[in-house]
Amino acid sequence: MILENIQAIKALLDTPKQIVIIPHVNPDGDAVGSILGLAHYLKLKGQNPSVMVPNAFPEFLSWIPGAADIVIFDEAIEKASKIIQEADLIFTLDFNALHRTGEAEAALTTSKAIKIMIDHHQAPDDYATYMYSDVSMSSTCEMVYHFIDMMGDVKTVNSNIATALYTGIMTDTGSFRFASTSNKTHKIVAHLIEAGANNAQIHNNVFDANDPSRLQLLGVALNSLTILKSYRTAFMYLSQKDLDDNDFKKGDTEGFVNYCLSLKGIVLAAIFIENSADNIIKISLRSKGNFSVNELSRAHFNGGGHTNAAGGRSSETLEETITRFKNILPQYNTLINE
Ligand code: 5GP
Ligand code: MN
Repeated sequence: MILENIQAIKALLDTPKQIVIIPHVNPDGDAVGSILGLAHYLKLKGQNPSVMVPNAFPEFLSWIPGAADIVIFDEAIEKASKIIQEADLIFTLDFNALHRTGEAEAALTTSKAIKIMIDHHQAPDDYATYMYSDVSMSSTCEMVYHFIDMMGDVKTVNSNIATALYTGIMTDTGSFRFASTSNKTHKIVAHLIEAGANNAQIHNNVFDANDPSRLQLLGVALNSLTILKSYRTAFMYLSQKDLDDNDFKKGDTEGFVNYCLSLKGIVLAAIFIENSADNIIKISLRSKGNFSVNELSRAHFNGGGHTNAAGGRSSETLEETITRFKNILPQYNTLINE
């Protein structure tokens, strides 16, 4: 974000505004952490922002301070649309295109508010008035920290801000192990702990709050594991019946795809999850090194994301989607085996 923009944003925030903060649909730890971290910061600046998500977030994020105040767009469409309509300023966090906001897209598109994007996904669309986009960042939470720093307020980071931001950095970096984790990330995390983020408690709240049914579902996914050795690829799948049989709740499949990537020699991993309600197969893709699942997902699965983590969808059946995935691998043979 350039200095000129920061000055303009400072001027905007000098007087009370109707502010909305919203992340992408199916919000994850970085999405929820960043909107709440930013909201706690803006409250310190005398603002009273509305914090909104396009649809429900997983239970394992509900303990983050401020989560109870989040408006869920698709559960209160009229009220939420009105809040967006009346906003003068909208912060869009952790996504790069308005179509990533599910049912909130139309309201956001027609809104006349000034939009500020803070995001680390590749190839951002040009919808925002002020854009802070940096694909080298580990997480949007890390960027919100930098934003607060650029505003000259890093000393104001309190335990609510620190807790929310720590959560998103932790989840988006796979607990500080992905290549996107920099020395700067660790310095920020050190400050967040100093400022009151209880690292052990946060980890416990997010990762050690499983229901037995989630582990049963993981068992089903692991049983579907398929390895395509010559393409250094591994994938898993879950049908709607698998989900139903194991009391599936939002967020239960988060992280399953990483088991594929934990196999020796594997550089491309995928999980295919049937969603009968939306009539789609949701695909999560992960990679190691230079192989870009963002590009693969954009080219074949109507999705996108980052080099090493992307998502997409297919409107074919589970079986057809998997067959298509297998059939496109030969064209990536060289890149995968580089
Ligand atoms: P996940 O596999 O955990 O759903 O998503 C991995 C990454 O890809 C996240 O950064 C997420 O925002 C992005 N992503 C997931 N699904 C989609 C999609 O359908 N379209 C785009 N553009 N990005 C996605
Ligand atoms: Mn993110």
